[in-house]
Amino acid sequence: MKKKVVLKISGEAFCDTNSKYNTIWLQNIVTVIKKSLNNFHISIVVGGGNIWRKEDISIEQINQNDSDYLGMLATIMNGVVLKNFFLSNKIPSTLYSEVDITKVVPSFNYQKVEKDFSENKVCIFCAGIGHPFFSTDTNTILKALEIGADLVIFGKNNVDGVYDKDPQKFLDAKKYDLISLTEIIDKKLKIIDLTAASLALKGNFEIFFLNINKPENLENFFFSKKVSFTKVINKG
Ligand code: UDP
Repeated sequence: MKKKVVLKISGEAFCDTNSKYNTIWLQNIVTVIKKSLNNFHISIVVGGGNIWRKEDISIEQINQNDSDYLGMLATIMNGVVLKNFFLSNKIPSTLYSEVDITKVVPSFNYQKVEKDFSENKVCIFCAGIGHPFFSTDTNTILKALEIGADLVIFGKNNVDGVYDKDPQKFLDAKKYDLISLTEIIDKKLKIIDLTAASLALKGNFEIFFLNINKPENLENFFFSKKVSFTKVINKG
């Protein structure tokens, strides 16, 4: 039986310094996913940070609810872009949204995802959980629970796993090869938000963090080749 995967791609991965969309990276990641489809059912949660993220954009006149809705709309834009890359590579995919925008994107339904997987389609989830005050990390865990995922992969930008402190800022930061969810929660490690980490305690899936700035890292992971990552066990 193929394993069900939920892959989180942050908005940051979509962009480069010159553009909101790094088309070379997008093409490469889609090519890697195409290769993995013989062995895995793939679903993808897209972030929106390349366009809108509440921490980066604080406009006094925009209230928190609407700022978060703008973030969710940003994830819909990224979802539509990603779906078109699958389309142009002749890979069947379905984009689902948690915010009603049915003329553009159908609403999420876990039973339809099951059918999509049976037809070898990639599923893309956008608009987070559909509510302000949450994150696409939380949606990644929520979707993993809803679709009964076996594996959750957080594709990170410029970091290859979980560290005890920010490796970009501290030269002596120590990487964990294996860590438990309770340790992530107790030590308040900022690799995912606490809501996502706490929700993950309900699941039976394994969680991996790896750097997907280089799409070949994801390919190596899928084909059990050497790649740096952190594995998270959700019990203990
Ligand atoms: N967001 C939200 N509810 C959700 C998911 C996302 O309100 O369930 C908003 C929030 O403002 C967030 C933005 O959408 O900052 C973009 O999502 P996220 O920061 O998770 O994207 P990423 O940083 O992974 O690209």
